[in-house]
Amino acid sequence: STVFIAKESHPEESRVAASVDSVKKMISLGLEVVVQKGAGAGSQISDEAFAEAGAKLATATGAKSADVILKVRRPTDSETKSYKKGATVIAIMDPYGNEKALGAIAKAGLSSFAMELMPRITRAQVMDVLSSQANLAGYQAVIDATHEFDRALPMMMTAAGTVPAAKVFVMGAGVAGLQAIATARRLGAVVSATDVRPAAKEQVASLGAKFIAVEDEEFKAAETAGGYAKEMSKEYQAKQAELVADHIAKQDIVITTALIPGRPAPKLVSKAMLKSMKPGSLCVDLAVERGGNVEGAKAGEIAEVEGVRIIGYNNVPGRIAASASQLYAKNLLSFLETLIDKEEKTLAIDMEDELVKATLLTQGGKIVHPGFGGASD
Ligand code: NAD
Repeated sequence: STVFIAKESHPEESRVAASVDSVKKMISLGLEVVVQKGAGAGSQISDEAFAEAGAKLATATGAKSADVILKVRRPTDSETKSYKKGATVIAIMDPYGNEKALGAIAKAGLSSFAMELMPRITRAQVMDVLSSQANLAGYQAVIDATHEFDRALPMMMTAAGTVPAAKVFVMGAGVAGLQAIATARRLGAVVSATDVRPAAKEQVASLGAKFIAVEDEEFKAAETAGGYAKEMSKEYQAKQAELVADHIAKQDIVITTALIPGRPAPKLVSKAMLKSMKPGSLCVDLAVERGGNVEGAKAGEIAEVEGVRIIGYNNVPGRIAASASQLYAKNLLSFLETLIDKEEKTLAIDMEDELVKATLLTQGGKIVHPGFGGASD
């Protein structure tokens, strides 16, 4: 089979769906790899480096002859039309609320897999794109905050006086939040964090941060079987807001990462809370593309609300593209390996595999995923 590595057309996408290592590995599996010219430019991988790894270089039209297209983002309508009928697309498909786009992909006769729907089981850890990218986003959020912050993060005792340590509060202690905690700690900040899942408590403490949360009965049951948070009740949210309001007034930097799969991001920081913060305080809202955790956050901007700057950059993993692409390429390669018949060196999708069941969106002209309008089995 032939694998095509597309150059991303989205203006804010600097990542690429392959690395030099993943290309070498695909070739060693007996696959032919074609890389679209310039695909690696945003991630510091030159065409020559891909060619040296054994890939052929092509223009966008090279996609037409590919059996498998590896991408970062869901293909646009015109990209979809440029693929051959029956080809397989593997990407971060952003399926929620985008059933129309999925329908077009189905109609074009493409099979498509959404990497972000990978189950969070041990076997699939190496394919877990949400974790690989969120981890880098959590790190980058602290770097971005530090860059905008007009003070130092660590306490510094100098002959000219003492600079106090900055206080950093992380809301949502999943993969991104835990890395944000670790990064802020390494920079010497005094760090606290909150979450609605009880499992987060120990993880936060083990990183040396203080855990702050409303630990009632609802909190004890807030984690789903998949490891995600539930959407909390109005009552819980009110109690949480009250607890957080006192704490936030004393913080310098607030980093929010809270998400609920398939739902808008929960609103955690209100205008009144922002108003209570000291001059020069900052927020970084990593949930901004899903509606934001902070009131007044704007996607793609640094907004200013009640004198507090809210950093709302889009595609934060893309701000650290070389690392993000390296890990994403490994996620993709590991999944692709499960879809290949090693003897025949061709694609052989096992419909009974739980990874396939969880991630396959379209096939045979239809949306097949029950979560997105496909018939459930
Ligand atoms: P996520 O990106 O969906 O959400 C980020 C965090 O926000 C989560 O910790 C969530 O509990 C929290 N959150 C949601 N609503 C909130 C609210 N109202 N207030 C405060 N916090 C709120 O989560 P994630 O980073 O993808 O991690 C989800 C879980 O999956 C974690 O338990 C993680 O450890 C687990 N995980 C498991 C594996 C595995 O392979 N076993 C791999 C990666 C992650």
